[in-house]
Amino acid sequence: MPDPNGFLRYDRRLPARRPVPVRIMDWREVYPPAGEELVREQATRCMDCGIPFCHDGCPLGNRIPDWNDLVRTGNWDAAVESLHATNNFPEFTGRLCPAPCEAACVLGLGGQQPVTIKQVEVEIADAAVARGGLRPRPVPAPTGRSVAVVGSGPAGLAAAQQLARAGHAVTVYERDDALGGLLRYGIPDFKLEKQHIDRRLAQLAAEGVRFRAGVNVGVDVTAEELRAEHDAVLLACGALAGRDTPETPGRALRGVHQAMEHLVAANRVVAAVGDGNPALAVLPDGTLIDAAGKHVVIIGGGDTAADCLGVAHRQGAAGVHQLDLYPQPPRGRDEERDPWPTWPWILREYPAHEEGGERVFAVAVQEFVDDGTGAVRAVRIAEVTVEKRDGRRIVTALPGSERELPADLVLLAIGFEGTEEQPLLDQLGVARNPRGAVDARPDWQTDVDGVFVAGDMHRGASLVVWAIAEGRAAAAAIHAYLGGVGSLPAPVEPAAQPLAAR
Ligand SMILES: Cc1cc2nc3c(=O)[nH]c(=O)nc-3n(C[C@H](O)[C@H](O)[C@H](O)COP(=O)(O)OP(=O)(O)OC[C@H]3O[C@@H](n4cnc5c(N)ncnc54)[C@H](O)[C@@H]3O)c2cc1C
Ligand code: SF4
Repeated sequence: MPDPNGFLRYDRRLPARRPVPVRIMDWREVYPPAGEELVREQATRCMDCGIPFCHDGCPLGNRIPDWNDLVRTGNWDAAVESLHATNNFPEFTGRLCPAPCEAACVLGLGGQQPVTIKQVEVEIADAAVARGGLRPRPVPAPTGRSVAVVGSGPAGLAAAQQLARAGHAVTVYERDDALGGLLRYGIPDFKLEKQHIDRRLAQLAAEGVRFRAGVNVGVDVTAEELRAEHDAVLLACGALAGRDTPETPGRALRGVHQAMEHLVAANRVVAAVGDGNPALAVLPDGTLIDAAGKHVVIIGGGDTAADCLGVAHRQGAAGVHQLDLYPQPPRGRDEERDPWPTWPWILREYPAHEEGGERVFAVAVQEFVDDGTGAVRAVRIAEVTVEKRDGRRIVTALPGSERELPADLVLLAIGFEGTEEQPLLDQLGVARNPRGAVDARPDWQTDVDGVFVAGDMHRGASLVVWAIAEGRAAAAAIHAYLGGVGSLPAPVEPAAQPLAAR
């Protein structure tokens, strides 16, 4: 029985973030551990609602009130068990998820204070490590069937773990030199330190998953070879085709880059230093891409842009502007537009925003300005209005509103256009849809029998929590396809969508 008065006795509280002047000197995570007392207090705020709307916000079907109550009563081992029943990698979601469950929590009604669900989640996940580590689960007798998983992001890894635990022989192929997908070289360490990935990989390996990093499937191994070796293939290649702006004058100037080029180079430096090998932030062709001493302009308003902002400050940028096409959202939920418990359009302030920089809303880049040597020296922007007409976005510049911002480094964080075109898709005969994603039938198979798809590659650029949910569901479908005994949990269907007002 939960404490019915918990939310009356305690306000919502999160642990203090590490001080800005300290944390921008290193790459460590922004949040320190909350400590048992605070987590138990916050878990006590959960009312164990008769209809727990938090469940509707989470595609994984996490048993949120159950583990809140287990934490409240100090039953950490049971909480660890309950959390892992629905989520393979709570240490990732607990750190990275924007927490649609909190937007749907009953305690958030009327602009009030939802339970700190995500903080409780991460503390349970870390308790699992502290209380004896991530022990491998005993694996049943081999089924004799084998599965290739292409891509080692959260979708591929979740599917691999589910399938290995059902007795199938699983090999994960990853073209990068290290495993983890965007968690490894996309998301910076100040949001997710990489030992969390390494611990999970060790657990998966001990459960029998084989890893082949540095293998670009379709180039180093053909689709034909893959299909000959395995009974089923899961494509979990992400949605890494970065949106560009080729029509903007000056796009080809030196110093104008895709955000992912900047993030990958920076993350590789952090990884190399961690391995005792100091390195420079460079592109694959050796070009330096570092914000040190530079005026940086980041174009875009999402996760990727905020990550570039945090990286730029840690590299020692002279100044940073972050540009957004849209007007500044409200700070609180607009009940007309996004009624509770849907995900609201509000101003998202990431820890990176309190580290410095200036956000500029309702502007669009008119030109990247040449310094006379072929490098960018400024960005010319104009104030704009944005309308939707017949499903198309119409951007109108306000006459006389143009101005220049100094820029030696410009980072395009304007979204992704689906999964990349690559030889693997042609070899398999799998097509991309108009959004650049790969469609799945209701059983997660693509148009090609025995070839399944999950995660961003299927959904388009999304969230870690959706990638894990889709990986689990696709694993259940593959298990059924291979004639496996019983069934695996399938938290979502391919057509599932986030909770929204219709
Ligand atoms: C900068 C950034 C920050 C983000 N921050 C957050 C956040 O804070 N919270 C959140 O929830 N989500 C965040 N996201 C989104 C989240 O990272 C993705 O939704 C998630 O990683 C998708 O997982 P996935 O497994 O589908 O694909 P990915 O993680 O993209 O992994 C796909 C993998 O497939 C590999 N691959 C592709 N083709 C081949 C091939 N032919 N052979 C072998 N390997 C191949 C790729 O190298 C890659 O490693 C962020 C995304 C970005 C870009
Ligand atoms: S909606 Fe909020 S208060 Fe209700 S069960 Fe879920 S977390 Fe607890």
